[in-house]
Amino acid sequence: MRVLVVEDEKRIARDIASPLERAGYVVEIVRDGEEAWFRADTDPFDAIVLDLGLPKLDGLSVMRRLRGGENSTPILILSARGSWLERVEGINAGADDYLVKPFQPEELVARVNALIRRAGGHLTAQLTVGDITLDTRRRSVTVAGSEIDLSMLEYRLARYLLHHAGRVVSQGELIEHVYGGEGEPDSNAVEVLVMRLRRKIGASQIQTRRGHGYVIAGAAG
Ligand code: CA
Repeated sequence: MRVLVVEDEKRIARDIASPLERAGYVVEIVRDGEEAWFRADTDPFDAIVLDLGLPKLDGLSVMRRLRGGENSTPILILSARGSWLERVEGINAGADDYLVKPFQPEELVARVNALIRRAGGHLTAQLTVGDITLDTRRRSVTVAGSEIDLSMLEYRLARYLLHHAGRVVSQGELIEHVYGGEGEPDSNAVEVLVMRLRRKIGASQIQTRRGHGYVIAGAAG
């Protein structure tokens, strides 16, 4: 899962990105509104954490442009502007949630988790497909009740596949949402990662669709 963090103050940007990364997100930071709009418009993100006071283009304008262009990526405004009027204005302009600075990292992660889960049509913090259960609060995965020890990359892969259970996910999509900007993974790296995850959760859990990608079948078969 990929999150775009839009924040012009370097230290705050790190304070936002770090807990999200620990929670298993691939995070990209941009520091001005025009860059934010460009990135969000050209690349798929699973959520955007958006500051309001930004150089070049303010946060509300970024959001209006995105929503005007029918971009429905979940947006959490994270701003020092905390009056009820400002919060109402933000939500009316298309934000899905609003958090006021200073913030607690745990609350930020919980809210981003909730936004992504709702956008995917999932009602709880647990993703369950067959006998696999992934808990986004604990960053844990169990198979038939036993906890499986996963590396961060394996966890990200499992989460993305489970979030999209029943849909074939392409290698290109996995490179973007699981690796983000880290290194230059190719399709071979994805295959190796899928193999490692299969070894841990059971080979038959992830099916390969030649030339298309991978799917955790679940109910959709
Ligand atoms: Ca700012």
